[in-house]
Amino acid sequence: MILLTDAYGRVMRYLRLSITDRCNLRCRYCRNGKFGQFIPHADILRYEEMLRFVGLAAASGISKIRITGGEPFVRKDCASFLAMLRERWPALALHITTNGTLLEPHVPLLARLGVKAVNLSLDSFDRATYAAMTGRDALPSVIASMDRLLAAGLRVKINVVAVRGVNDIQVDDFVHAVRTLPVDLRFIEFMPMGSGTLWSGENFWPAAAIKEEISRRALLTPVTDNPENAGPARMYAVAGGKGRIGFITSMTNHFCRACNRLRLTSDGHVRTCLFTDREYNMRGLLRERRISDQRLVDTLRRVCSLKPMGADILARRVHDEAVAMRRMTSIGG
Ligand code: SAM
Repeated sequence: MILLTDAYGRVMRYLRLSITDRCNLRCRYCRNGKFGQFIPHADILRYEEMLRFVGLAAASGISKIRITGGEPFVRKDCASFLAMLRERWPALALHITTNGTLLEPHVPLLARLGVKAVNLSLDSFDRATYAAMTGRDALPSVIASMDRLLAAGLRVKINVVAVRGVNDIQVDDFVHAVRTLPVDLRFIEFMPMGSGTLWSGENFWPAAAIKEEISRRALLTPVTDNPENAGPARMYAVAGGKGRIGFITSMTNHFCRACNRLRLTSDGHVRTCLFTDREYNMRGLLRERRISDQRLVDTLRRVCSLKPMGADILARRVHDEAVAMRRMTSIGG
């Protein structure tokens, strides 16, 4: 097997596949709230095209896939697509990132498919704050999904985008959650992606400050024997708690050296780094009948070989300037 590698010796093992840029929420850190700015339907890859890409990636060493969006469950037949992925590549570790608002009826299927973990975006346990942050009063449906996932024995990771002046006054709620629930709750540093989001230097709540706040309320012990600590989150056990707490320091302590990620956007662009808009449009090739799988793989290898070091791009960023223009909702996080 020829692997997907880059000039820094990194090997791509993890594909984040965004199946749609549509979302039923309007999170203020993710998009600017204007409607009608979606990718035209004709440009969105069909499931068959995505499956072809996944097959080529899996044959090139990708062993983990995350289905994301937009909101993946907004796309018609998302559940059948997940089942197809599982059927064709039984060994692929299947993960999902979702806002959880439409998830509950699909939980039994996810359990049957052996989904490894579900990442739930849940930025506040306070109903009014949640509604203000996401544009919808949907917290009860997310909590119902979370409860159902846990009851089905699925692993749950809660993603909290940390926004100063919004959810920084709710540290007690977050600590209570990890004390009482068997979840991994991870704070994600707010990234300046796209234009017109809530982003500003003042809204930035760095992981170090969050950790300090939490440490005043709970004893945190680093989780050292966790292979996942090779990933972006630094995880901590919480004394007396069922769950764990972690930090994804995308802005203050990058983890680019260990990055093994590859992204495919719903309109068929391969993106090798979150922090650069330099993408490769595979859609044309995927839609061209005469293009062989070999040619596609060769192209993918070439694109991966050019994967940049995101931290260098971040370092060149002018303060308060977005690091990339594509919105998170069309990248997939
Ligand atoms: N709709 C799904 C969800 O809400 O989880 C999947 C897509 S969402 C774009 C994927 C992840 O990106 C979420 O965990 C979200 O919190 C995160 N995200 C979006 N905008 C962000 C930003 N500006 N900074 C940091 N994380 C962000």
